[in-house]
Amino acid sequence: MTALSITTVGDPVLRERALEVGRDELRSEAVQRLIDEMIELKRAAGGAGLAANQVSVRKRIAVVEVDERTRYSYKPLVPLTVIVNPVLEPVGGARLPIVEGCLSVPGLRGELERWLTVRVRYLDRFGEQRELVAEGLTAGTFQHEVDHLDGVLFLDRVEDPRTFSTWEQFERRHQAAWLERVAPWVRK
Ligand code: ZN
Repeated sequence: MTALSITTVGDPVLRERALEVGRDELRSEAVQRLIDEMIELKRAAGGAGLAANQVSVRKRIAVVEVDERTRYSYKPLVPLTVIVNPVLEPVGGARLPIVEGCLSVPGLRGELERWLTVRVRYLDRFGEQRELVAEGLTAGTFQHEVDHLDGVLFLDRVEDPRTFSTWEQFERRHQAAWLERVAPWVRK
């Protein structure tokens, strides 16, 4: 059991920029335990990712993982990836419309545009420098998590507020049409 809990929109910590983590700090028992607890909490909540701000910790740490327990049944699988001090840049200028949700915004989804392809440079949990290139919905997940570390929520990027829907309404009325629109990328 973890002592952490996921905070929700309205909490100022979600609007603050999280701070870089030093290599020694990263290797400390406290931060390693924090990472383990974030992974546990993300899995229990069924999220695709979780950023430290969401558990009220202002450190540039996020975890991403999509498996069969994740609440987005259509997302391509992503192995557990812990990103520390991530720096994200778009590759090419293509954009993709994504309907996102967030564990800190219970019940709500909305449509926004994300870069189709991104490169992420980061430290892994052991302090090793790493780099990955993500595409499609997976690229969207990484952009969503790095946004959290900058105090940005998906709500801020929704251009048309009429796209907001509850999860229930989205699944019932909108998911099929949206999946058809993004089908070429969802398969990636
Ligand atoms: Zn989120």
